Amino acid sequence: MKKTIRMLLILLCVCMITVPAAAEEEIGLDELLSIGEIEVEELAVWTFPVALEDMDPEFVRLANKHYLLDKDYVPEPLVTIKALKKNKDGSNANGGILKVGGTMQLQETCAAALIEMADAARADGYNLYLKSSYLSWKTQNTMYNNRLKKNKGKDDGWVSKAGASDHQTGLGCDVVPKNWTDRGMNRNMAKEKECIWMAEHCQEFGFILRYPSDKEDVTEINYEPWHMRYVGIPAAEYIMANGLCLEEFTGQLQAAIQDYLARGGDPAKVEAYLQTPTDQ
Ligand SMILES: [Zn+2]
Repeated sequence: MKKTIRMLLILLCVCMITVPAAAEEEIGLDELLSIGEIEVEELAVWTFPVALEDMDPEFVRLANKHYLLDKDYVPEPLVTIKALKKNKDGSNANGGILKVGGTMQLQETCAAALIEMADAARADGYNLYLKSSYLSWKTQNTMYNNRLKKNKGKDDGWVSKAGASDHQTGLGCDVVPKNWTDRGMNRNMAKEKECIWMAEHCQEFGFILRYPSDKEDVTEINYEPWHMRYVGIPAAEYIMANGLCLEEFTGQLQAAIQDYLARGGDPAKVEAYLQTPTDQ
């Protein structure tokens, strides 16, 4: 009798283990799907360190000689930058910035971020001067041709050709210390305390150093400690923390998009971020 009970128990255990497995085998995933038994949620997850909703596609747009901007590309909305008026306590009275030269324009969000950065720098004792801002395709074309003429037809890497300039995005600007407002710019400016401050704090305001010293072979542009590029805070924090230039960031982002799509991601979510070289 005892033996029979033991046998029954063993049989019961075996059944408990095998029955669910057998049931699973009987109805396959395809069948369940076809009879509408289970709903499948989107499996692909955006795994890139910067979330799509934290990144405006226009703010991470790359412009260089391989990714040329269209002749008609004009960032929107462009705003004219006011010259700074200070209150008695030194604070910003009119939402302006110290600047060199006449009318200057930047994309609105970038302009607000730049003024915020300049105010923060001033609070730390550093005066930042805006020296160059948005440049249209046409203006850049004139500047490039003038530079070529000056250099007997040789491109010396100081002036981008039309369509390749970060200044055409309306998100790129040249910001300099006071004693560099009226001199030719070169890499020695990096030693100035204002530039050291910018290199340290720019990402807090959504800016990156567009042409870093150790990325000249990637950007194909000389080191420019003065050239700030607005990309938005999350992207800027990531780029600066990882010592990237915008070309490298774009490469990573495009690879992340292809990976996301290959995993079945929603094309509509990433469409606006796709960028393809114009020289291929
Ligand atoms: Zn510049």
